[in-house]
Amino acid sequence: MKILVVNAGSSSLKYQLIEMDNEEVICKGTVECIGIDGSKITHKVNGKEYEIEKPLANHTDAFNLVMECLTNSKYGSISSPKEISAIGHRVVHSGEEFDRSTYIDEKAMKKLESVAHLAPLHNPPSLACLKSCMSLVDCPNVAVFDTGFHSTMPDMAKLYGIPYEDYQASKIRKYGFHGTSHKFVSQEAIKYLSANGYASDKIVTCHLGNGSSISAVKGGKCVDTSMGMTPLEGLIMGTRSGNIDPAAVEMLAKFKKMTMEEITIYLNKKSGFLGVSGVSSDFRKLCEAIDAGNERAKLAYDMFNYQIRKFIGSYTVAMGGLDSIVFTGGIGENGSLIRSTVTKDLEFLGVKVDKELNVNAPRGTMVDISAKDSKVRVLVIPTNEELVIARDTKEVVSAL
Ligand code: ADP
Repeated sequence: MKILVVNAGSSSLKYQLIEMDNEEVICKGTVECIGIDGSKITHKVNGKEYEIEKPLANHTDAFNLVMECLTNSKYGSISSPKEISAIGHRVVHSGEEFDRSTYIDEKAMKKLESVAHLAPLHNPPSLACLKSCMSLVDCPNVAVFDTGFHSTMPDMAKLYGIPYEDYQASKIRKYGFHGTSHKFVSQEAIKYLSANGYASDKIVTCHLGNGSSISAVKGGKCVDTSMGMTPLEGLIMGTRSGNIDPAAVEMLAKFKKMTMEEITIYLNKKSGFLGVSGVSSDFRKLCEAIDAGNERAKLAYDMFNYQIRKFIGSYTVAMGGLDSIVFTGGIGENGSLIRSTVTKDLEFLGVKVDKELNVNAPRGTMVDISAKDSKVRVLVIPTNEELVIARDTKEVVSAL
């Protein structure tokens, strides 16, 4: 069974064709600059890369080009679109219309349209791509939501302290994001922990990348997560402020003479590591600046480190214990320093990291970096969001 996974951004479209019998990626690629000058596709198959530049007015044009590459007689992987059993789409926001990955027919499409405004930059391109796929390929389409894994959060964790009827009418509450990543790494962790006789009931998953979020996963289900109605809530990130007093936002808008729309962009794009350090949103560049003695870069690092530790502490309390901490995402998978500073002096929680293992952890594979006598297993797990989308898609279409 071959499943095509697509992830549409406002001007981009990433895709992977996955053979589900062995869960291997057959080919993958990216379409860039859709609807703007310089549009092109980069298609990767069998270790080779093919680049085609072509004007692409919209996501239908882009998807047509993807299908041309997939079926190309020289570097294609299938002879006909009929070989694709289903298409899985990453959709960022489900609102309250969906609480799990869902087969998209005309009725579901209407519901999807009704929540498009909740993620105005992300959901509309996914919808455009879904519509193109539904009209161009004769196979089922499944939406897999970034918010889906967090739908199990109890009301006390997901509601904001606003009048309840306003929540009911507006649906404004915490939804959480990076759900496919938190789902993948928590499931991998549970597999590893139970196979090796360790407890796996209470896990904190730390997805640390340009965008960062932390989740509490109890009994395999998400019970809390750091991002909120939008990805702005929670930790300080590359360019996002993370948590801030809501009343300070209005004060800041007045101070900067900005509208609410402008201040939201400012908090999403000009803040975080970039804004605090004045150096970069990129974590590696931040670390280089620290090595060169830049104190504001050090401050941004310390804020990130401190906030991750606070989330681990609060989720340990929320779950009534801690069996494992998982690090993933570009920073979590590669940054041994942040793993070391986050877990420092947490022996009172049962956390002990093996320094050598942490520094020498091979990349691209799961590594248990805990000391032998650590009560809490500390794991580094490379995330694989596309595989979660493909697995969910397979599960949904198998039940049709
Ligand atoms: P996104 O959220 O866009 O998917 P990634 O998960 O790819 O982002 O993470 C990007 C971040 O990972 C960047 O801040 C980058 O500096 C950081 N990163 C990548 N490699 C390393 C490394 N070796 N050490 C520390 N940070 C790294």
